[in-house]
Amino acid sequence: MYQSLLRQQLELLKSSNQYRTFTTLSRICGRYPLAKLDDSEQDPVVVWCSNDYLGMSQHPAVRREMHLALERHGAGSGGSRNIGGSHQLYARLENSLADWHGKEAALVFPTGFGSNDATLQCLLRQIPDCVVVSDALNHASIVNGIRATSNERRVFRHNDVAHLEEILSGYPLERPKLVVFESIYSMDGDIAPIAQILDITRRYNALTYLDEVHAVGMYGPRGAGVAAELGLADRVDIIQGTMAKAIGVIGGYIAASQFIVDAVRSFATGFIFTTSLPPAITAGCLASIEHLKASDNERQRLHAHTGLLRKRLDEHDIPVMPCSQTHVLPVLVGEAERCKAAAQRLLNTHGIYLQPINYPSVPVGTERFRINATPNHSHAQIEHLACALRETFEHFAIPLASVAFAQEVA
Ligand code: PLP
Repeated sequence: MYQSLLRQQLELLKSSNQYRTFTTLSRICGRYPLAKLDDSEQDPVVVWCSNDYLGMSQHPAVRREMHLALERHGAGSGGSRNIGGSHQLYARLENSLADWHGKEAALVFPTGFGSNDATLQCLLRQIPDCVVVSDALNHASIVNGIRATSNERRVFRHNDVAHLEEILSGYPLERPKLVVFESIYSMDGDIAPIAQILDITRRYNALTYLDEVHAVGMYGPRGAGVAAELGLADRVDIIQGTMAKAIGVIGGYIAASQFIVDAVRSFATGFIFTTSLPPAITAGCLASIEHLKASDNERQRLHAHTGLLRKRLDEHDIPVMPCSQTHVLPVLVGEAERCKAAAQRLLNTHGIYLQPINYPSVPVGTERFRINATPNHSHAQIEHLACALRETFEHFAIPLASVAFAQEVA
């Protein structure tokens, strides 16, 4: 019975074109963004949709520190933070993160997902009367954390500060409120109106929680994120980030006041009851963050390559969605089947790996490719991508920008 119940669910998923298949890609250390497809002997493909935004996963300093820690301390951490898993690299990493964000303290979790989920659950459970107000496009990890509590929850329209204010103004000033939002939204590449949100939250006495997962390492002085770039980090109560994307390793964290961090450390079940990160991982994260604090080189090349790619895509009439203000370039296809077929052609004919992005990650009718140039992509690879996309869009009669956005422009 159970098998057949699950099979029915899977059939439903397949018939709605939402069933996910994994492409086997083995990245080649030292040759980023190249990867071997299915570990075959064929020429490597060029990866254009990795969240290893700065190529730090292959950086020599990161690899060296990971090797050293592995040889010194072994593979695993041996326990949760409270039961033997708080090796000395943890303290150094958390101090480095707190310093990065200009906060009193930081707390590391095994993943970014876990840091959102555990922190939000914890804060809301500790303050049961707290109303949580969340942006409509917040990540699943945020939604998960919020939904796991019985707190009153409200959703404001994406980046709509007037709607946020309308919601907050409906509660007495003394009622606890938590406003949760992201700095860069990963599917559209747009940026939240952080200054306006902080003005409103101050007016209505709300605590602020900012997910900077798609910004840390890449924006602001020393790469500390968009809030830091705008000089607003000290007005955000809790900054959350990941070490799995621009930092290139794995792990999540929050940075906040001593009291907030201590409360999460002491009460969050998703923090307490799980094994801590292995020493080699924390060593790699620390090396990467310390490097990115000191070096602008990767950031400059990321933004230069993104600018060049944006220009070339524009010249080839490729529909980069106008919402994008950042290194994330969403290219509209607008249909799940053609998006999948185009991805196959890009891979098989042009040696380009782009994963189709379908519902539920994005609304139906806005299926897309989500393209990231990195410091490691060459100018030749950028040219090649623009030409290959043009050929593929023409092959499948996918509307080019001049057609797809004609109505918006008119
Ligand atoms: N927050 C946002 C906005 C994300 O996009 C993601 C992952 O894609 C996460 C949190 C989770 O981070 P991690 O991949 O480190 O678990």
